[in-house]
Amino acid sequence: MDIHSTVTLNNGVEIPRLGLGVFMMSDGEETESAVRTALEVGYRHIDTAKAYGNEASVGKAIRESGIPREDIFVTTKLWNAAMREGNEEEEFYASLRRLGFDYVDLYLIHWPVKEAYVRAWSIMEKLYDKGLIRAIGVSNFNPHHMETLERSATITPAANQIELHPFLTQDTVCAYFRGKGIALESWSPLGRGALLNDPVIARIADRLNRTPAQVILRWHLQQDFIVFPKSVRRDRIIENAALFDFSLDEKQMTEINALNRNERFGADPDTFTF
Ligand code: NAD
Repeated sequence: MDIHSTVTLNNGVEIPRLGLGVFMMSDGEETESAVRTALEVGYRHIDTAKAYGNEASVGKAIRESGIPREDIFVTTKLWNAAMREGNEEEEFYASLRRLGFDYVDLYLIHWPVKEAYVRAWSIMEKLYDKGLIRAIGVSNFNPHHMETLERSATITPAANQIELHPFLTQDTVCAYFRGKGIALESWSPLGRGALLNDPVIARIADRLNRTPAQVILRWHLQQDFIVFPKSVRRDRIIENAALFDFSLDEKQMTEINALNRNERFGADPDTFTF
């Protein structure tokens, strides 16, 4: 494995295992600079969303990098309001315009808005069939959302992006989606930073001469989770990509798995209100 290693999605499209997440980065120089730095360091995968308000800066930094568009994997997401208002298609084209691209690599339903995600999926299938999206997927789906979707879907989601980290391992949910050939993406892989002071992680990091962030990110990679930690700092963007010259042994993986306490730092897909 190296920074360019990919996971092959169920439609044959390859997604880099490591990317940069840009949630909570302000549009403009902050996002542009983080994306620019990540591309310089070798990242080829950026995870944004309509709701993050920074698609335009992501697109600008990518265009100005001089790296061919097809060498960079970009994910964006359909926001809840568009599903509630029934203007999914317009919303997709607006994302495309803000990014300044003629296609998106991965387009996700951001949250399973009740009574709306099934219709949204059928619209995404049409956009996929038109060649405007290379892969379509979901986010924050539990198995029961998938069961509802499956009743009418003609395309199986390529990925499910869910909150995953050592304090929230979601073993049953992961096994369910893996069983369907749906790739898993970890959001808030560092628990928004809250996991970095855990003593078990710190001890393993110390023994391996690595940082806690590197140990946690490596734990994700060794489980085939696709991961995109967020940082605007150059030193951390570099640190978070230096994951390919060490590994965790079975005992260390087991110790980290045992940290699970079903603790969420974000909303619960069954009770979110936004
Ligand atoms: P994260 O787990 O990536 O943590 C980010 C925090 O950790 C930041 O405060 C950052 O300063 C700190 N950090 C990063 N690297 C560090 C390092 N090496 N050392 C010390 N601190 C470090 O949290 P996140 O941003 O919530 O999640 C990552 C990405 O996941 C987002 O940017 C977004 O792309 C995606 N996401 C998706 C959803 C969804 O609903 N689909 C929800 C949340 C996040």
